[in-house]
Parts: sequence; C-alpha cells; structure tokens
Amino acid sequence: MQTRRKKLCPQCKIASMYVKNNKGERLLVYVIDDGVIIPKDPEHSLDGFDLSKVYCLGCSWHGNPKRLGKV
Ligand SMILES: [Zn+2]
Repeated sequence: MQTRRKKLCPQCKIASMYVKNNKGERLLVYVIDDGVIIPKDPEHSLDGFDLSKVYCLGCSWHGNPKRLGKV
C-alpha cells in the first residue's frame, strides 16, 4: 500500500511548490514521499522542468525535494 502524503515547506508548512524549466516558466507541483514530484494538475507534463530543485509558493524557501521534511 502506497501513501501519497504531501511534503510541506520546512519554513511555512504549505504543500504548494513549483518547479522551473530553462525558459523560466513555473509549474505548480506537490512533493510526495521519497521526494517524488507530481504536477498539481495531472494534465501537465514535467518534461523539461528541473526536478532537482523545488520552490515554495508561500515563502522564499527552495531546495532539493528529497530534503523536504517528513510530515
Ligand atoms: Zn514556504
């Protein structure tokens, strides 16, 4: 059984994150267990986006998704 718990920002404790591609475009995502990134809108593809770094929507935090705290 797989849990899909969302990771939260270590600073402001929200789950809304985004990733960027090399054109500077943002895509809203969530980070779930084991640092896996899923698009908030399942229709969107993560193709071309840099998944090594996630940015918090609510504050200035950004970092490796695998380093997000456990909820
Ligand atoms: Zn934050």
